[in-house]
Amino acid sequence: MINKIIETLKKKGVKVTPQRVAIIKYLENDNDHSSAEQIYSRIIKEFPAVSLATVYNTLEMLEEINMISKIKISDDNIVNYDYQKIPHHHFYCKKCKKIYDIEISCQIAQTKKFQGYIIEEVYGYFKGICKKCQSNK
Ligand SMILES: [Zn+2]
Ligand SMILES: [Zn+2]
Repeated sequence: MINKIIETLKKKGVKVTPQRVAIIKYLENDNDHSSAEQIYSRIIKEFPAVSLATVYNTLEMLEEINMISKIKISDDNIVNYDYQKIPHHHFYCKKCKKIYDIEISCQIAQTKKFQGYIIEEVYGYFKGICKKCQSNK
């Protein structure tokens, strides 16, 4: 898996550093859509010299080369990051503030063209109360 990350970075012409690989590795296994601060607090354990600015810069760079995407769904204006696997939509729970992946088949995305527009990407943001919080009532 690490080899694949390194290969992808090289293909995109990006310098491979252990910190960058660690951040990608973290995001790849992250199902919680972490914020930059959360990623930083994990990476610093492995790389004590890393700064929050480095984490931010790496995340920006990874977004530019389309390896990750930003999610701006939280009510607190926190930016969360998602490693791009299969395109999916996001559900934000207003109670526990967790972000869930949801799969909804989107006809517009499949037709590629909608009302004359060429659709290349579709992101859906849904907000409400998650299943867990509903049963906690
Ligand atoms: Zn919830
Ligand atoms: Zn996601």
